[in-house]
Amino acid sequence: RKYESWEIDEVIFGGLWLLVLFSAYVVRRMFDINVINKEVSRMAYYDSLTELPNRNMVMKLLDEKVYNKSQAGLAVVFIDVDGFKKINDTKGHLVGDEILKQVARRFERCLLSDELLARIGGDEFVILHKVTDKRCSPDLANQLIQVLEAPIRIDGQELYVAVNIGSATWPRDGTSLKELLVHADLAMYEAKNSIRHYVGFDKNVEHSFLREFALFNKLLVGLQMGQFYLLYQPKIELYSSKIVGFEALMRWNEPDLGIINPAEFIPIAEKYKMMNNIGEWLIREACRQLNSWKIEGVEITGRMAINISVQQLEHPEFYNNMVTTIEAEGLTPCMFELEVTESVVMSHPSRTMETLRQLKQGGFTIAIDDFGTGHSSLLYLKKINADTLKIDKSYIDHVATDLSDQTIVKAMVELGRNFNMSVVAEGVETCDQINKLKLLNCDIIQGYYYHQPMPAQDFSDLFRLCN
Ligand code: C2E
Ligand code: CA
Ligand code: CA
Repeated sequence: RKYESWEIDEVIFGGLWLLVLFSAYVVRRMFDINVINKEVSRMAYYDSLTELPNRNMVMKLLDEKVYNKSQAGLAVVFIDVDGFKKINDTKGHLVGDEILKQVARRFERCLLSDELLARIGGDEFVILHKVTDKRCSPDLANQLIQVLEAPIRIDGQELYVAVNIGSATWPRDGTSLKELLVHADLAMYEAKNSIRHYVGFDKNVEHSFLREFALFNKLLVGLQMGQFYLLYQPKIELYSSKIVGFEALMRWNEPDLGIINPAEFIPIAEKYKMMNNIGEWLIREACRQLNSWKIEGVEITGRMAINISVQQLEHPEFYNNMVTTIEAEGLTPCMFELEVTESVVMSHPSRTMETLRQLKQGGFTIAIDDFGTGHSSLLYLKKINADTLKIDKSYIDHVATDLSDQTIVKAMVELGRNFNMSVVAEGVETCDQINKLKLLNCDIIQGYYYHQPMPAQDFSDLFRLCN
């Protein structure tokens, strides 16, 4: 049949209409895909919480060498929020999230237009920082610390946040951005380990990191291979000049590195949660030595003081293990005094208090070590019911000449007396200090003036001679 012209028009019109619909569909799809693409790329390169660029973005910039060698004056600044895990644990994750958002906004206020702030991990931020004559990395670090001085307000609470910051500058501290990032991270790590909040990378930072890493790797092996030993330092009663006790102090003779002092390896062991292994070795070695003196017929009077770390006190089996080891060696807890630093007692009051109470009941005596460095509360002092107060060396150093140190030491001695504790002055080195401590009524002295820490044989010889 022949088609009417209106019928042809309708088909053409319908076809055109379909074409329009199809084009609209295609455009819409393209738009959607664009949106999706944008969203995917946003998710891949931005942090959804703070809306800052994320680690991928920083890595992409590194790969693309956006900040390449022509960018003179570039530094990487690495920022870590101090104790963020504790905030999360105590205040909850929602508060933690809000803190990160507010910290990010405050950091943004410190940036110049061509600088980049990224959140590269849970509580870690990085700034690609443009160094100028007027604004170097320490200046920026100061600014970042300052913007956090005002409290962060969340749901009516005022929270304070501190940060550790490290920086590395091109080309001195690294020639690629990757290297700068690693070195800024190391510098931040150094700041975290020290009392400073900001550290700029240098060779010392790298050296101390490598040293820590080496010690960490060698510690447990050293313990198994018998590289650790104890020295003994007498505690002398002032009025009789007799040895009334002694402290066991650990040393590590590492075949490649030589003799390493506990002031260096104990903080590392604490950081990497190795103190329980070390503590177990210590108590076994202490028992072995006491028994060996017994066999030799040396009658050592006075308690052997051993240092106890917080990780040991927190271990649920600490008390039982100690007592089992000591009794298995035929010894008793009353041969030992346990030295616990003041800061340990203060930072974990309820848990440690219970263990300390148990230890006292079991027959150990307790000494508060480094007294004066850890913000004690008198209430805790009373609750611990310690037997000995050891005044920290920092108060003894100038006690002969400094009036305020004399006043403090006098007050500590009186405090100890009133709580029925004996008071030991640590790190006494001079005759003038001794004379002043006598006047201040201090009972017991430990320090180089009388004796340095010494090997077991020297100590037993000395003991025979003096007592
Ligand atoms: P601390 O418990 O305060 O021990 C006293 C430190 O001061 C010892 O250093 C001792 O040798 C030193 N000292 C004593 N008298 C003087 C003096 O007159 N002048 C000077 N300049 N120093 C003096 P050492 O043996 O290097 O121990 C350092 C720290 O390492 C100890 O401080 C203690 O906190 C820790 N430590 C040592 N051995 C152990 C251990 O077996 N376990 C634990 N957890 N920590 C230990
Ligand atoms: Ca001690
Ligand atoms: Ca001490």
